[in-house]
This record gives sequence, structure tokens and C-alpha cells, in this order.
Amino acid sequence: MYNSRKKPLEEIPEELTAIWSCTNDSCKGWTRDNFSFSVQPICPLCQSEMVKGEKMLAVLVNTSPSQTKK
Ligand SMILES: [Zn+2]
Repeated sequence: MYNSRKKPLEEIPEELTAIWSCTNDSCKGWTRDNFSFSVQPICPLCQSEMVKGEKMLAVLVNTSPSQTKK
């Protein structure tokens, strides 16, 4: 799909990111898979089960050099 609107030069790069999304259709809850869940996470919004999926998200750029990696 192409966006016909002209965009400014600065683009936020996006990449397919692993996420967990809520199984509840009426809930939009999801979370990045940044945490090493040992068990299936529970939706913080509605306490439903979550399923692993993928989503196009803006790439997180670390602006602070002191951030520690886990
Ligand atoms: Zn939910």
C-alpha cells in the first residue's frame, strides 16, 4: 500500500517486532516481547490470555548511552 500524502524526510524506521497480543477481541492490549516471559503473559488490561504475534513498530533508538541491556 502506498501513501499518496507527501511525507517529510525524516522517517521513523519500522521493523517487524515480536509482540504479545490480547486474545480478547474487544481489547486492544498488547505488549512488546522485550521481556523474557517464562510463561504466557496475561493481558494487563483485561487479564485475558495473550498470544504471540508480530507487529510493525517504530524501531526503538537508544538515545541514552548509559542504558543497560538485559
Ligand atoms: Zn486484554
